[in-house]
Amino acid sequence: LNNEITIFEKILAGEIPSTIVYENEHVVAFKDIIPKAPVHVLVIPRKKSRNLTEIAGVPETEIGHFLKGVALTATALGLDDSGYRVVINNGRDGQQSVEYLHAHILGGRPLKWPPG
Ligand code: AMP
Repeated sequence: LNNEITIFEKILAGEIPSTIVYENEHVVAFKDIIPKAPVHVLVIPRKKSRNLTEIAGVPETEIGHFLKGVALTATALGLDDSGYRVVINNGRDGQQSVEYLHAHILGGRPLKWPPG
C-alpha cells in the first residue's frame, strides 16, 4: 500500500493554498485548480481513504457523512435548482490522479453524457 502524503493532505493541513468553499466536521470542499466546468469543486473526507475501494473498510456513518458533505457543499454553492454532477474517479481506468478519496462536483452549465 502506498502511504505517500498527497496534495490534498497538504491542503487539509493548510500547507498549500486552496479556495475552500464549504467545510464541516467531516468534509472539506475546495475549488479544483483546473476547472472543467464553471463550477468545479472537490469534496474530501477529513479522515483519509485512498479511493472508493478502501471505503469498504470504513464505518457506514463516516461514509454517510462524506456523501452528505457532498450534498451540503452543492447546496452551499447554490446548485440545487440547476442541478449538477458528482464524479468519483477510481483507480487507473477511472483516471484517478490523486490518491486521496475525493468527489468532484461539476455544474454551472448543462453537462454532456456519457463522459469520456
Ligand atoms: P482525479 O483525476 O479524480 O484524481 O482528480 C484530481 C483533481 O485534483 C484534478 O481535477 C486536479 O485538477 C485537481 N487538483 C490537483 N492539484 C490541486 C490543487 N492543488 N488544488 C486544487 N485542485 C487540485
